[in-house]
This record gives sequence, structure tokens and C-alpha cells, in this order.
Amino acid sequence: MPLVEGEYQFACTECDEGSVQVLHGPDDDDEDCEPQLVWEQCEDCRGEGIVYVDEKEAAEWIDGGYTPLRSPADA
Ligand SMILES: [Zn+2]
Repeated sequence: MPLVEGEYQFACTECDEGSVQVLHGPDDDDEDCEPQLVWEQCEDCRGEGIVYVDEKEAAEWIDGGYTPLRSPADA
């Protein structure tokens, strides 16, 4: 899939390949219910594990020490 000019891809920092662990519970109605971790789709990358940013935002990511998975220069 060719990137649009100015578009960069980074691995999402909020999740593990598109999934995030979320703590559920305990349920107020059930005292025996233990809180548990469940996997949910990451909202930042919509479950893709990859975020797409424009050039300006990419510069901030790179400043923060992240390396783009893909950049327009790779195309
Ligand atoms: Zn994510």
C-alpha cells in the first residue's frame, strides 16, 4: 500500500499489536467477582497496531526517539 505524500507510519505506543489490557470490575452487584484484565481493541490505532501521522506530527515522534515503520521516502 503506497503511502500518501507526507504520511508516516509508527508502531502504536498505546497497545500491543492493536490490543490493550483493560481492568474490568469488580462488579458492584457481585462481591465475589474479582477484577480481571481483558484484552480490548486499542482506540488509538483502531486495532491495527499502527498509527498514521502527517509530516508535522511525525517530526514530533522522531524527536521523541521513535523510528517510523514507513515514511514517504521509503516508497
Ligand atoms: Zn494502538
